[in-house]
Amino acid sequence: MTRDKSVIVCGGGIVGLCTAYYLAREGCRVTLVERHAEGHDHCALGSCGYISPSHVIPLAAPGMVWKGLKWMLNSRSPFYIKPRLDTDLMRWGWHFWRASNHRRVARAAPILRDLCLHSQKLFEELDELTGHRSEYQRAGLLNLCQTAQGLEDEASGLARTANELGVEARVLDAKQTAALGLGVKLDIAGSVYFPIDAHLTPARFTAVLTALLQEMGVNFQWSTTIYGWRTTGRRIAAVQTTAGDLIADEFVLTGGSWSAGMIAGLGLRMPMQAGKGYSLTLPNPRFRITKPFILKERRVAVTPMGDTLRFGGTMEINSHDDQVRPERIEQIKAGVMAFLPEFTAADFDGIKPWFGYRPVSPDGLPYIGRFNRYANLTAACGHAMLGVTLAPGTGQLIAGILSGRTPAVNLDLLSPDRYS
Ligand SMILES: Cc1cc2nc3c(=O)[nH]c(=O)nc-3n(C[C@H](O)[C@H](O)[C@H](O)COP(=O)(O)OP(=O)(O)OC[C@H]3O[C@@H](n4cnc5c(N)ncnc54)[C@H](O)[C@@H]3O)c2cc1C
Repeated sequence: MTRDKSVIVCGGGIVGLCTAYYLAREGCRVTLVERHAEGHDHCALGSCGYISPSHVIPLAAPGMVWKGLKWMLNSRSPFYIKPRLDTDLMRWGWHFWRASNHRRVARAAPILRDLCLHSQKLFEELDELTGHRSEYQRAGLLNLCQTAQGLEDEASGLARTANELGVEARVLDAKQTAALGLGVKLDIAGSVYFPIDAHLTPARFTAVLTALLQEMGVNFQWSTTIYGWRTTGRRIAAVQTTAGDLIADEFVLTGGSWSAGMIAGLGLRMPMQAGKGYSLTLPNPRFRITKPFILKERRVAVTPMGDTLRFGGTMEINSHDDQVRPERIEQIKAGVMAFLPEFTAADFDGIKPWFGYRPVSPDGLPYIGRFNRYANLTAACGHAMLGVTLAPGTGQLIAGILSGRTPAVNLDLLSPDRYS
């Protein structure tokens, strides 16, 4: 039973907010602790807003290790690991290497599919409940490929796996892609179209959800930093914060890429790296793009968000380094101009880059579940490139776990103890 249980949700990004929502719906007394003030920036805010059941292949996939090694020394590449002497990074890299195999992907893909599809259903319920204020649209998503080889790889890789798993993927040539009327000229060989995918404007979604949580009586502890824990045997007694020790029956870890640091000192091993990504949002784009798409060979995501247009990309594994790297921004712009020849550098004049840190586990799968060592500490973090997509699904799973219900999906692969 969860009714009247007190729960502290540790971190107020999209996963923390969704977790607070499903716990409050169960009748829990929820406190959400966030180190920043209300309306703060978090990783979903500048994200590309995809809710993408098509992303059934996790980041750690066959071929990624060699690509990663090739790209490692090139700070212009889309996936860049800054070489450094850091035992956490080395351990993370070792687990990444071990996870990048066909057997592991075959086990992970159906779980990701089920979680993504279920989470998308929950987004649709939330959209209905909150009066369609998040610009949620099920407009599909295309992976645009510039080369014949790129299209062939996409067709025989992701599209085949998606279709085998029942997620429709249509391989289109350049003419068929143009016939979808994307609203801009394309220089491509073809595309893979996933009609089921959706998108929304994350800033709207999180603002609407925060207001809903306030109406539901969730207690927000804004501007409060978590710096430690008090334990009694196998239980967390309190979380130590800048507003004093906060006690509760249950604690949920939703600190995104900071989650591993947040539990330092508890003797737990949950490897995590921050995967920095950038986005550029044009407030008045010259073209009305009708569907989101990914520029495959350049790894740039393009999303129409209301009247604006967002370009996002790059994955830089380089701890929490707040420096903006101009060469990486230039790579995003160059990718856009290569695929969409009507765009010029002038379209980006005066646009300030945004960046955020994806919480990246070594196998690209989230950590969802209770820790063995502490009976009342549960993880909900590490969603990498799927944190928006999976946020409501994660929140509902956590509410179920805390109520003692058996989850509908097998969570073994997602255990926060899987690297212990
Ligand atoms: C460029 C880019 C594009 C993306 N596009 C997509 C997309 O299209 N679709 C998709 O599904 N995903 C996308 N993602 C990934 C997604 O944005 C993230 O996975 C997701 O936002 C992570 O959410 P989170 O709540 O786990 O973490 P965060 O948003 O990082 O939230 C963690 C919160 O914890 C707080 N916190 C940290 N430490 C403490 C502390 N000590 N005390 C108190 N509070 C603390 C932080 O301030 C923060 O608010 C994208 C990411 C990037 C960078």
